[in-house]
Amino acid sequence: MICKICNKNFENLNGLSLHLRKHNISMKEYYDTYIEPNVFHKCMFCDNEKSFKKGKYLSTCCSEECIKKLIESVNMEKYGCKNVAQNASVRAKISTVLRKKYNTPDDKISFWKLDKTSTEYAEINNAIIKKRTNTILTKYNVENISQVSDIKAKKKEYSILKY
Ligand SMILES: [Zn+2]
Ligand SMILES: [Zn+2]
Repeated sequence: MICKICNKNFENLNGLSLHLRKHNISMKEYYDTYIEPNVFHKCMFCDNEKSFKKGKYLSTCCSEECIKKLIESVNMEKYGCKNVAQNASVRAKISTVLRKKYNTPDDKISFWKLDKTSTEYAEINNAIIKKRTNTILTKYNVENISQVSDIKAKKKEYSILKY
């Protein structure tokens, strides 16, 4: 990667990023000035500017709302449903990704070896979190409803005895 300010060459983004400090300019400012000048990078879901990370613009502004929409749209595109945990092919997908990457059938261990910045990691992690949340939600709601109706029944009994 060549610094467009002084033409010095760098092996990777990190090198360039560190070097830019010498020019007193942030990676984002550098990008906006020398790589894509005068472009407003609009979030794909709202009017905010896209989030800038690791030398490039992401597809959204990274607000909670837009991340949610992004996850949903990725899931819709890839799995044909909003919630990946609903889809049985997700497990298979995880295995395939891991096998391809580490050539091992041991899903659980290799998942934690995945580069945490890779799209595979984000994808799998998202699938796991969604599944966990759904399980808790289902369990909690059911327990709660039975508790609530239990209390109501007891209150009724009590008022009948009292009057
Ligand atoms: Zn430079
Ligand atoms: Zn947004």
